[in-house]
Amino acid sequence: MDRTLLKLQEALTRPGCFLCRLEEDYGRRFLEGLFYEFVNDSAVRHKLLAGGFCSDHARMLFTLRPSILGIAIVLQNLLQHYLDGGKRPDPAHCLVCQNWREHLQHLVHLLHTRWESLRNSWGEETFLCTRHLEEFSGAFRLELEEVVRQKLSGILGHLSCLVEKFDYHSTNLPITPQEARSWQEALEFFAGRKFQKD
Ligand SMILES: [Zn+2]
Ligand SMILES: [Zn+2]
Repeated sequence: MDRTLLKLQEALTRPGCFLCRLEEDYGRRFLEGLFYEFVNDSAVRHKLLAGGFCSDHARMLFTLRPSILGIAIVLQNLLQHYLDGGKRPDPAHCLVCQNWREHLQHLVHLLHTRWESLRNSWGEETFLCTRHLEEFSGAFRLELEEVVRQKLSGILGHLSCLVEKFDYHSTNLPITPQEARSWQEALEFFAGRKFQKD
């Protein structure tokens, strides 16, 4: 089984939007390898000088700091290019986002073509956020929406229990891990995974 398919299958078993999870993972790996790519691949260098980083990936780079020397060299080039009269990088052409878009198309295709076997890996708290549902169309989109609705009903059940247990009239029942993360999952469904931490 190819690596991408394995990763997709694994992400499907875990709570939250599996495409957000894979997107985050992809961005992280990309930024970790960026310095190497930047130094060794002139096409990457060229694209990065044109696009720079979008705010999400700039923030990710800032948090991740895979190599200060690597980041310094990339930014040295970006700044030099700008001061030499090059155009300001356009974050709409963020290199990480561009590469992710291509990878995402591959994932969407895989999910569609391997659906019969992949659907068995779909976890109880797994869903697609509103943004990632948009990647699909036609009958397959309707089928996915139906699975997502089922899982969201389960999450709503956990949310309701959580709210109930906060009521001081209720007995001191312990809050389960599913209940504790239910509000974050609902937030992730509407807004994507940007706020989540594992
Ligand atoms: Zn998502
Ligand atoms: Zn980006």
